[in-house]
Amino acid sequence: MKFLITGGAGFIGTAVIRHLIVDLGYEVVNVDKLTYAGNLESLVDVVNSTNYSFVKADVCDSIKIKDIFEEHQPDKVMHLAAESHVDRSIDGPSEFIQTNIVGTYVMLDVAREYWNQLKGEKKDQFRFHHISTDEVYGDLEDTDDLFTENTPYAPSSPYSASKASSDHLVRAWNRTYGFPIVITNCSNNYGPYQFPEKLIPLVILNAMSGNKLPIYGKGKQVRDWLYVEDHAVALVKVSLEGIDGETYNIGGHNEKTNLDVVKIVCSILDEFMPIHPKDINNYEELIIYVADRPGHDMRYAIDATKIDKNLNWTPKETFETGIRKTVKWYIENEIWWKRIQSGSYHGERFGVKIN
Ligand code: NAD
Repeated sequence: MKFLITGGAGFIGTAVIRHLIVDLGYEVVNVDKLTYAGNLESLVDVVNSTNYSFVKADVCDSIKIKDIFEEHQPDKVMHLAAESHVDRSIDGPSEFIQTNIVGTYVMLDVAREYWNQLKGEKKDQFRFHHISTDEVYGDLEDTDDLFTENTPYAPSSPYSASKASSDHLVRAWNRTYGFPIVITNCSNNYGPYQFPEKLIPLVILNAMSGNKLPIYGKGKQVRDWLYVEDHAVALVKVSLEGIDGETYNIGGHNEKTNLDVVKIVCSILDEFMPIHPKDINNYEELIIYVADRPGHDMRYAIDATKIDKNLNWTPKETFETGIRKTVKWYIENEIWWKRIQSGSYHGERFGVKIN
């Protein structure tokens, strides 16, 4: 069986590809434009596999995408390519509209044409799996509610609005054309190989260098954290076993405030790296509070009952076990993140240099 993965050089895409090839032995063609967020060095474990191939392409380029379908004849498509950082979407929404909405339209259009000419079992097993976010549901404020698959969409940021639009397109292709799709909406991911502008790697790397740890507002925003390898397993399960036309919410059952997350990372670093940089006594001393992000949602939390009951998936890692693995990985993989720091990314987003 062959999977076509878009955005396979990104944080979650690389975890999905490692799982598909190393754990399950499937064939993969990775289609990625290699924006600032794409990093082929995260795929060292699979790059020499005969089951792996890579094509540099933009999902908005319909001619190139058509060629890729013709050449590779995939059985499953997992569409992860996206602009994914909320702050960047506030600074410049244009790329988000282009890649997340137009790019998803192009993928649907080309994939449907390809699917139309398939026959027999190949046609029956074809699925277009759209990977989306819980941010499409908006804000739970300070209620105890959880996002279910039936929660109405109410996106707050240009990022979440562009992902919501793409979800609607995918669902419409199913209703209108009978095109076989599944959609997943997942909570915040963390783990190895995450680009160092996202909260958890940013905190780990800044703390290790003795730099300030900027927290938005009072750090009271609640997110439901999922270890990326648990997400990868869930995604492949949905691609293989999910029911045509259905949506599955994926979450970690690990609600934490941003401030708690930062404090937990600091205490793990106190244990793993007891010789502190500069003249601090513990990493928590580095926390500073900065003006909140406009439109910042207060709480996201997923009800993952459907995927648990119907597809028998639950996450293996708790936040406590996953975050220890993650901190350890960043300590042991300096070569990976140092290369990013010296290249396209210089920690400019919070006005704080990582090194
Ligand atoms: P990422 O930013 O790390 O990676 C995105 C990848 O897409 C990069 O490799 C980039 O080069 C590629 N890409 C961007 N524009 C492209 C284009 N026009 N054509 C081809 N490739 C392009 O993102 P991620 O964190 O791995 O997220 C992957 C998907 O999962 C996204 O769709 C995101 O919305 C969704 N998601 C992410 C999270 C999370 O916490 N990271 C949570 C839920 C859902």
